Amino acid sequence: MDLLEQKKWFDSQEFEEKFHCKQQLGAFCSETGTIFRLWAPTASAVALLLYENGTEGYPMERVVLHRAEKGLWTYETQHNLDGVYYEYEVTVEKTARRTADPYARACGVNGTRSMVLDLRRTDPVGWEEDVSPAVPAESIIYELHVRDFSWDPAGGFPEEERGRYSALCRTGTTLNDDGIHPTGLDYMKRLGVTHIQLMPVYDYGSVDESRCDEQYNWGYDPVNYNIPEGSYSSDPYHGEVRIRELKEAIQTLHQNGFRVIMDVVYNHTYALESWLWSTVPWYYYRQNQDGTASNGSGCGNELASERSMCAQYILDSVLYWAEEYHMDGFRFDLMGLLDTQLMNRIQEALDERYGVGEKLIYGEPWGAAGSAARSGTVLCDKGSMKRINPAIAAFCDNTRDAVKGNLMDERSVGFVNGGYFSADYLLHCVAGWSLGEHDPFQAPSQTITYLSCHDDWTLWDKLVYTMNPAKKFHSRLTKVMRANRLAAAINFSCQGYPFLLAGEEFGRTKGGVKNSYRSPSWVNQISWSRAWENHKLVNYYRGLIALRKKLPCLQEKGAAAAQRILSSVDLAPGCVGMSMDNRGNGTKWDKIVLLFHTGKHPQPVHLPEGNWQILVDHKSSFRWRESHCISDSAVLPPVSALILGRVKA
Ligand code: CA
Repeated sequence: MDLLEQKKWFDSQEFEEKFHCKQQLGAFCSETGTIFRLWAPTASAVALLLYENGTEGYPMERVVLHRAEKGLWTYETQHNLDGVYYEYEVTVEKTARRTADPYARACGVNGTRSMVLDLRRTDPVGWEEDVSPAVPAESIIYELHVRDFSWDPAGGFPEEERGRYSALCRTGTTLNDDGIHPTGLDYMKRLGVTHIQLMPVYDYGSVDESRCDEQYNWGYDPVNYNIPEGSYSSDPYHGEVRIRELKEAIQTLHQNGFRVIMDVVYNHTYALESWLWSTVPWYYYRQNQDGTASNGSGCGNELASERSMCAQYILDSVLYWAEEYHMDGFRFDLMGLLDTQLMNRIQEALDERYGVGEKLIYGEPWGAAGSAARSGTVLCDKGSMKRINPAIAAFCDNTRDAVKGNLMDERSVGFVNGGYFSADYLLHCVAGWSLGEHDPFQAPSQTITYLSCHDDWTLWDKLVYTMNPAKKFHSRLTKVMRANRLAAAINFSCQGYPFLLAGEEFGRTKGGVKNSYRSPSWVNQISWSRAWENHKLVNYYRGLIALRKKLPCLQEKGAAAAQRILSSVDLAPGCVGMSMDNRGNGTKWDKIVLLFHTGKHPQPVHLPEGNWQILVDHKSSFRWRESHCISDSAVLPPVSALILGRVKA
């Protein structure tokens, strides 16, 4: 069969009816035996190779699999093969390929051999009692890379834990062990964020796990979708270790009050010749009209989420991480390449198993390039957000760019660094771009509001590029600091889910590097010294986060959120005002006024009637702890925010 005929065959209803397989796939062992199940409908033969270890040597045994219904191949033995490593040899159109099991749940070093494993052996002490903290009134998401977190020696982590899962299990670390300035988990607790979004922790391919020298990668190159990455573990050779250590990290995060979100990359694999490809050539991948691999991911290939067994694979994988690793949510890389039907199914399945709202789902509502999805497929991009489950959220580039400028051009500016934006435009930012028919989102429940993430310049570097022509990224220029504060005040005044890249709150710099996915660790690491040098900026973020937890007008995420938006007004060039209805349980302030000023001169403004308590000003975001009230008028210093709350009569 040529490639195009095969593409049509894979896309057909007939193929789906003939081969959609509902069996649980993978290898499962117990005291009474072990069963292997592989889906390979186009194979003419499948053999199983069993090994003593996950690295080298000839197979101990070679077993021919039995062909069952629906493209399934199976082997059953009465031996408990717990701890045995394995590969398959799949023959398709006379070509035999050695491959790991795409459904494997454990593996050896670098993930090249799969492993049969009794997963209960990987549970840390107390894992059965592990519960996530309750869903908070407001979710504040902090994006963190495992290695970045603890690589800096100033963080005070033991040498053998630096860059590893185990560093996430450690409390009580301080800056250079001074016993005074918290780092690590204690620092994040003090900051007040509620959700830790871990950058890829599934097994990826760009770091060689067998080498101990300096290697760095973000990890957006999946090899084994259902297995943790080995380079963050203390022993990547023994399959059970990485699993237990990641679970321990999640358990500790839970115990410290954090929910954990997993970054998942179901849009492409590290290479086209993946385990998925080797078991069923081409089935899991979108193809162009000439039969070549479509490249909507910009990484050389893209998965065909609209094909039923590919959709099943992704759904099963998400449910597996939620169940086995207690993940509290998922961030979908290039969600715009997955289809809306699948995303809705994932949300519904999680809601059904764990309760509505228990697992948070969001993603990037775009692809990297054009996609060759089967015709009739509705991709889950920005244009589809109004047609999907309103609980599925997406990163909002509108607000990101309005605040700091476009990310394609280092000179492009936003509101805080010299651009002009009207009060009406900023009002849409505050409302999470869900105000009217021209806005992309149904409600703030769909909006991830952010200024920086791992991609592109950090907020600080972008501000330095646009405001400091000398490009002194490691400086602490006052005007950059002011713009950073104003940017944060805007971001934390928006009704969607606030999100920040770890370290944005201390002016994290990568020295101007835009795409640091494989830059050295010292470029990417969280600098704990800088975190404490810039503790005033950190405190500004802390105050904004703490205040936010007290404002019903920002916590409301459903359709009713729009009714909280009362008015917007252009007060002067570069100075805008907005008011919001803040009525709700336990609040002291029935109305909130947001004033954002980016002009170069002090700006007097006239206040609406009432007694207004200062909640945030240009110097402090903890003013709400005092009881200082003003009425009639106020003056905004250059590049500053003023947030006021009307004291209930
Ligand atoms: Ca790996």
